[in-house]
Amino acid sequence: MDKIITLAEKERCTGCGACKETCPKGAISFLPDQEGFPSPVIDDEKCIRCGMCEKACPALHLPETHAIQAAYAAQINDEAALKDSTSGGLFTAFAREAFRRDGVVYGCVWDDEYHAVIRKAENEEEIKPMRGSKYVWSWAGDAFPEIKAYLESGRTVLFTGLPCQAAGLKSYLKKDYDNLLLVDCLCSGAPSPMALDLYLDTICKKEDRKNLNLKFRDKDPYGVGVHITYTGKKKRIKKGEHIRNPYYWSFYTRLVDRESCYQCPYGSGDRVSDITIGDFWGISEYHQEFKVRDGVSALLVNSDKGKQFLAGLTPGLNLSETDPMNIAKENNLFIGNRKRNIHKPLNRADFFSVLKEKGWKAAERRFLFTKGRMLRMVYTALPARGAKLIRKIVR
Ligand SMILES: Cc1cc2nc3c(=O)[nH]c(=O)nc-3n(C[C@H](O)[C@H](O)[C@H](O)COP(=O)(O)OP(=O)(O)OC[C@H]3O[C@@H](n4cnc5c(N)ncnc54)[C@H](O)[C@@H]3O)c2cc1C
Repeated sequence: MDKIITLAEKERCTGCGACKETCPKGAISFLPDQEGFPSPVIDDEKCIRCGMCEKACPALHLPETHAIQAAYAAQINDEAALKDSTSGGLFTAFAREAFRRDGVVYGCVWDDEYHAVIRKAENEEEIKPMRGSKYVWSWAGDAFPEIKAYLESGRTVLFTGLPCQAAGLKSYLKKDYDNLLLVDCLCSGAPSPMALDLYLDTICKKEDRKNLNLKFRDKDPYGVGVHITYTGKKKRIKKGEHIRNPYYWSFYTRLVDRESCYQCPYGSGDRVSDITIGDFWGISEYHQEFKVRDGVSALLVNSDKGKQFLAGLTPGLNLSETDPMNIAKENNLFIGNRKRNIHKPLNRADFFSVLKEKGWKAAERRFLFTKGRMLRMVYTALPARGAKLIRKIVR
């Protein structure tokens, strides 16, 4: 009897693409599921039941992990790059070090249709679109075979992405390479590309997307914070506090995360990558030596390889060693149990079914703008005297 191939179930599949890229017969494709997350589909006609896809799946076989060795607060020594980055600009500092070693860099960019994908950069110009967090699930799989070829040829490769993507790449490669540096982000969850797509439809037509310049956390003019900014066709610039932006709100409340994110085994405890980067929220309480307004990163060194890499680039960074608990306090993501359980909103399934059937605006009206929030929005939009009056009425 033929062997039955069983890939990770929906609750565990992160869509890393390791199974697809490993299949010797090209029998696996990725198609969007009901919630818009690309997921593996096996073509039974092409499948030869070799089981290589199962072996490459990080959800079925967790790759080797490292305990955190040291933690730092860090900021790049380059004002322009810092302004353009989401937090302390560590990605740019790491990419520069990789180029100094004649390496290639892999990071996340928007494609022409505003889908987030992992691509290659070979110089300073090509890393610019990689800067900035794209708060949406991204596709990494296509890059894996190319990365393997670079590694085999002896070139240094810096891979930067989500923890599940780092796990996927590690599983795909099957062995460690001295010339590979894996960097992952502290990650709270990856939202549905379909949700972002439908939200963007409310801003501009599909054919105008090329004129869109979407930035989730523009530091201008507020300094580091959580904002969504876009420059539309008529150069109209909208800036909104995160709380007033419906897409950001859906991300922030974990409504649109991939199913696997709620029990992610890569985002807490020991790490699959050599280095982990994130935001150092609440830094003023512990370190006064940084210009907090422009963003300070949290940096975790998880392996000896990561330690050596960091030693090479420290002149380009301001670094202060810190207790990992200082980072964990306001960023409760990497401590505690290996299996992180993030609360899945009870109305998540209903949100997706309304989103799919009736579109973004209908889902937004029903799930994202409750009465209380509407009142709060009116209240914060009013000048102080008006706000006092409203407060009296609401009481
Ligand atoms: C979905 C998501 C959730 C996150 N959640 C948290 C969190 O809860 N707490 C926290 O401290 N930090 C979180 N981060 C990380 C944080 O937002 C910054 O990306 C990180 O601190 C790097 O900042 P930087 O200034 O060094 O790099 P930047 O120059 O801003 O570069 C961004 C880096 O992130 C990578 N990246 C951006 N978007 C994606 C994506 N969609 N998929 C894969 N890689 C991507 C790029 O490849 C690049 O390496 C999250 C990032 C993402 C993408």
